[in-house]
Amino acid sequence: MKYNFGAGPGKLAKEVLAEAAEAVQNFNNTGLSILEISHRSEDFIEVLNETEQLARQLLAVPDTHDIIFLQGGASSHFAMVPMNLLPDDGTAIYLDTGMWSSKAIAEAKKFGKVSVIASSVNADYSFYPKGFTVPKDAAYYHFTSNNTIYGTGTFETPQVDIPLVCDMSSDIFSRDIDVSAYSLIYAGAQKNIGPAGMTLVIVKKGILGRTGRDIPTIFDYGVHVAHRSLYNTPAVYAIYVTMLNLRWLAAKGGVSVIEQENIRKAALLYQEIDDNPLFSGTARKEDRSRMNVTFVMNAKDLEYEFSTFASQRGIVGIAGHRHVGGFRTSLYNAVDLKAVEFLVETMREFTRIKQY
Ligand SMILES: *Cc1c(COP(=O)(O)O)cnc(C)c1O
Repeated sequence: MKYNFGAGPGKLAKEVLAEAAEAVQNFNNTGLSILEISHRSEDFIEVLNETEQLARQLLAVPDTHDIIFLQGGASSHFAMVPMNLLPDDGTAIYLDTGMWSSKAIAEAKKFGKVSVIASSVNADYSFYPKGFTVPKDAAYYHFTSNNTIYGTGTFETPQVDIPLVCDMSSDIFSRDIDVSAYSLIYAGAQKNIGPAGMTLVIVKKGILGRTGRDIPTIFDYGVHVAHRSLYNTPAVYAIYVTMLNLRWLAAKGGVSVIEQENIRKAALLYQEIDDNPLFSGTARKEDRSRMNVTFVMNAKDLEYEFSTFASQRGIVGIAGHRHVGGFRTSLYNAVDLKAVEFLVETMREFTRIKQY
């Protein structure tokens, strides 16, 4: 038995994996594999419709917004967002809270002017900048709600007068959000939605086609909206497993129910990090992420030993990002409270053995 705390691709529920495996052999009793059916078949259109409907229902996406399922990962939207929303002579406002947002900033600069309103880079991205005012005369404001690598996040919806764009790759479906406040939300599936290979985009009607730029067709959000994610072959299997995962989430009671569970999971682990003399959290307390918990050992020379101890107990995926080091445990929706209790128990046991 493994306890998977990997940051992405992340854990999926057992039931979801069982159904996903079954469909590879025989999808919906068609005698065909989900891997070999046409994306234009009636069976797949039903999958696409249900996936969209589940996402709409779980996130309370209003009719003012379209939902599309694209390939290319969250990283492709670092470029597609400015390509679609930033005129050549326009300015976009970005908040720099980590490696992903700084990559988004670098891409946006290729299409127009970028103004970084605040950054925590000089503090190793250990906090989430606050207390600034976003100007009214810019094309859009872009931020990353949860910093997967650094373990910081915000639960607030920024109050701005310009289109709001958010990379929600690692916290979408983990908490209730007010979709109506956003012009565009994008999220790679592999953290909290489903398997790698699909990116969910929620886009407000009427914000596209205003830059005057001739966008390559495949990078034009408007084309994907008009074709309902079927302009070209979508990530059929990733969308199918996403549907299974969203059904699982709906059956659990939906986002507000899982949010309460996520709050309990994160609180339990942070409590241990704060109480245990061997460990320290790396993110400022008020900015702590509920999805990615980052910490180090106070005695650095014990890090390798703790890693080994944890992995012998079946705990996997807790190494910090390769740019950061230390530990990171990701508590995505499919990681249950029992797994977090086991991790905490393991930390305590190690501390006891080391006689701290
Ligand atoms: C993982 C991640 C990305 C990168 O996603 P890809 O699908 O690999 O391109 C971008 N932003 C955030 C916040 C992430 O967690």
